[in-house]
Amino acid sequence: MVKETKLYDILGVSPSATDAQIKKAYRLGALKYHPDKNPGNHEASEKFKEISSAYEVLSDSQKRDIYDQYGTEGLNGGPGGMGGDPNDIFSHFFGGGMGGMFGGGQPSGPKRSRDIVHALKATLKDLYVGKVSKLALTRTVLCSECKGKGGKEDAVKTCGGCKGQGVKFVTRQMGPMLQRFQTVCNECNGEGTIIDAKNRCKTCKGKKTYEERKILEVHIDKGMANGQKITFAGEGDQGPGITPGDVVFVVDEQPHEHFRRKGDDLYYTAKIDLLTALAGGKFTITHVDGEILIVEIIPGEVIKHGAVKVINGKGMPTFRHHNYGNMYVEFDVEFPAAETFATPENLKKLEEILPPRPEVNIPAGAVTDEVVLADVDQSKFNAGRSGGQNYDEDMMDEDEQGGERVQCASQ
Ligand SMILES: [Zn+2]
Ligand SMILES: [Zn+2]
Repeated sequence: MVKETKLYDILGVSPSATDAQIKKAYRLGALKYHPDKNPGNHEASEKFKEISSAYEVLSDSQKRDIYDQYGTEGLNGGPGGMGGDPNDIFSHFFGGGMGGMFGGGQPSGPKRSRDIVHALKATLKDLYVGKVSKLALTRTVLCSECKGKGGKEDAVKTCGGCKGQGVKFVTRQMGPMLQRFQTVCNECNGEGTIIDAKNRCKTCKGKKTYEERKILEVHIDKGMANGQKITFAGEGDQGPGITPGDVVFVVDEQPHEHFRRKGDDLYYTAKIDLLTALAGGKFTITHVDGEILIVEIIPGEVIKHGAVKVINGKGMPTFRHHNYGNMYVEFDVEFPAAETFATPENLKKLEEILPPRPEVNIPAGAVTDEVVLADVDQSKFNAGRSGGQNYDEDMMDEDEQGGERVQCASQ
């Protein structure tokens, strides 16, 4: 299940669309609404930006993952900020030379590479005590040998094949017609410049960039929340004339076996026996960091099944301030098995101790029937009651975060 379908709707594809289907939908939409084809048409230009933004997310498997799980909220900067420069991705998509293709100008201002977004799994313990994860990131960096030029200063020449335009005109016979159209220059791959083989930088082979593996130390601070972002500004891909984007880790809180978290509070279900519930005694709660809390029920307190109590200050730390939320404890009172205590003598004792049974009142003249309680197959009963679903709605909240995750190679 995806969290929202807005971006898919913009491209007119279903959330299960393949990469190829998404690419095709984008290509059709982009060609139709490109500003250069619709001069002065504000609506078309807005539509173009929309589909470009949607495509930028859905064409990137990492971003698409994040979007499917968290919606636009999960993407850096929300729906307005994720677009970047539509021209940038458009040119990327067609292998460069967008300006040439539609005869328009090049986008102004520096281009920015995409943010690299990763989900970062974190247990409640990680979020309680804090943790530093070392994550390996492979990114594109400018070649340090040639400073991203691809060769010596004077080795970079304007491409003769396209005269620096990055595109070539090709004439082709289509039936009776001669068609002239543009194509990306095959000599310079649309870059407009070329470096002779002998003058190319040895390190990057004239490509100007290479892949580099970098270890990032990601600090999960105490009290961080699910969905919170840890940003490494400018650590994204580098390229000639491109401002690197950010590397963003999104905290993905893992469900805990015993605790549920809501804000800074923790929720716990304590199973206690009937004697402790009625007559007091001790039980323990193992906290998310392994600390054992010894809890005392005062004799005479009498804990009812389903009762909720609070242990102040034993919830999650608050982010940055490091106060603590509370731990709410709901009691599950377990009755002893009949064979361990239900002898005639014991039942007699209970009758002496406990308040008397309430009287059974039957109105005069009522129609009655004496019926028998039989045992039940518990699993069938549960399935029937809940319609096959998990009927605990609070649990459902926590379960929504399942599914595949983007993963960084851990150190
Ligand atoms: Zn060329
Ligand atoms: Zn180089």
